[in-house]
Amino acid sequence: MREALRHRLHKLQDSTSIAQQLGVVLSVVCILGLIVVSIFSARLSGWAIAERIQQNMSLTAATIADRLDVDMFERYREVRNLAQLRALDIAWEGDAALLRAALNQAQSGMRHFAWIGFARPDGQVVAATQGMLEGTSVFSRPWFRDGLKGPTVGDLHEAVLLAKLLPNLGATGDPERFVDIAFPVHSRDGRLLGVLGAHLYFRWVEGLRDTVLKAQPGVNIVVMSSEGIVLLGPERGDTPFTKDRIARMSVTRTGAFVQKSPAGDLLTGYAISDGEQDFPGFGWIVVAQQPAEDAFASAYHVAFRIIGYGAIALLVCVGLTLWFARRLGRPLRQLALAAEEIGRDPKITMLPRLRGNADVMHLSYALRSLLRRLTSAETRYEMFSRKHEQDVAALKELADTDPLTGLLNRRSFLAMADVALDSAHATGQLGILMADIDHFKQVNDTYGHAAGDAVLKHVADTFVRTLRAHDHLARFGGEEFVALLQDTDIAGMQALAERVREAVAATKVVFEDQAIAVTISIGAALAHDQDRDMHKVIERADLALYEAKNSGRNRIVISPEPSLQG
Ligand code: GH3
Ligand code: MG
Ligand code: MG
Repeated sequence: MREALRHRLHKLQDSTSIAQQLGVVLSVVCILGLIVVSIFSARLSGWAIAERIQQNMSLTAATIADRLDVDMFERYREVRNLAQLRALDIAWEGDAALLRAALNQAQSGMRHFAWIGFARPDGQVVAATQGMLEGTSVFSRPWFRDGLKGPTVGDLHEAVLLAKLLPNLGATGDPERFVDIAFPVHSRDGRLLGVLGAHLYFRWVEGLRDTVLKAQPGVNIVVMSSEGIVLLGPERGDTPFTKDRIARMSVTRTGAFVQKSPAGDLLTGYAISDGEQDFPGFGWIVVAQQPAEDAFASAYHVAFRIIGYGAIALLVCVGLTLWFARRLGRPLRQLALAAEEIGRDPKITMLPRLRGNADVMHLSYALRSLLRRLTSAETRYEMFSRKHEQDVAALKELADTDPLTGLLNRRSFLAMADVALDSAHATGQLGILMADIDHFKQVNDTYGHAAGDAVLKHVADTFVRTLRAHDHLARFGGEEFVALLQDTDIAGMQALAERVREAVAATKVVFEDQAIAVTISIGAALAHDQDRDMHKVIERADLALYEAKNSGRNRIVISPEPSLQG
């Protein structure tokens, strides 16, 4: 499996140019680099954005808590002002109708108030807006009990007595919730006249939250009681934070942290409403949250755009690189083509001078000088081999010829004659003449060895001149000559032998002013079908020569036909 993969990789490498390989490697490296850098910087900027979001959340929470305090303080002051309104002295003392009218008027100017009423110290409601709860006792209500002692702000609660009387319950049908404010009312001389109580719709807090949310969509705002129970938010009544966390929040008052949740981290800012001027505050905890992935989403959005633009830039870069690499590779390709050309055409012996960069120039220079050396070595080799051939030819000639007369020697004659015998059936009959100079020893003895040599040369020349062009003559050693006659018969052979004998006898050899006359005797024989090699024929011719010598010399004897020999 791995072996096959490596094999395929090698095949791919071999079939792609340097430029292509460079382009691919460069693209992969750049893409990886781009992705790593983009993702890394996205995470970095994600963390930075997350930090900013946390600060923003804590600021948002603080803003809401502040607005809660300020708004609440205003409601508190309004109720206090009403309780301390000296103009209502008569009304507090017993004029219920007047008081009701005053309370109705006050409520119409303060739209968050659900109910405003005045109860005597025994708890009986004397006058109230729209006459609601008049005549009933609120003695057991906490706001009344606390109100008797001093200014009171009661925490959130559901309507107990008012629930049935108020027409507009929450749209969801949930019970309406209220916050209570109560002030003791005293006469000018300091007697306690009763308690002025007011129920505020909690809805105004929702309004406040919605105003903030409009500016920051995607933010989740939760308002909790000081114990951490959700008063306003998606999971009303839940306790989304641990006791520990709540304790820490109430110590630090404002800050930010990351809340782990199964749906992902939440960047959380918080602030505690801690009152305004003489309004002591509820101690409510306002929490603003935004998912951490929002921060990373925008960072990743940026990263993906960088990758997108980067990829385009990369394509351009790779294009440029490929173009440049092709340029770089061009002289190398030219060099390869030129070298190929040299391999094909022996007439081309030099590479072109190439340029493009220092390396190519160096390579081109090096190859050119290599080729020069090769060419001169080749020329020298050709010279030597020609000389060698000549030497071999000369040696062969030396080995094949007789140095004195230039005729064939015995060895080369026999080889040639055997070949001739093999093809004799096609070319006609072969004949052998064997000639020997008569009394040659006397020539040597009389005129000297050099004169003998001159006679040998003369006889050889005369012999050659007389024979036909396709006959062959050899000197077999001493003063003995053998001729091979091709395409002949007994009569032809005899006539030719006769002409040679006469030609030798008719001329004299002039050597150092002396004329030397010689004769030759000739034995002749024809080749027969039974002859396996030329030795037999030569033997017969030799026998005939012996006979010619014996019967007086300077004559010709033809070896008889084998059948006649019987
Ligand atoms: P015959 O008529 O019976 O042939 O008698 P001949 O004297 O010719 O025969 P023989 O064989 O007795 O003598 C041959 C002589 O030829 C002997 C030798 O000294 C001489 N001879 C052989 N080769 C050479 C050579 O190359 N040059 C010279 N000058 N003489 C040679
Ligand atoms: Mg002899
Ligand atoms: Mg002789």
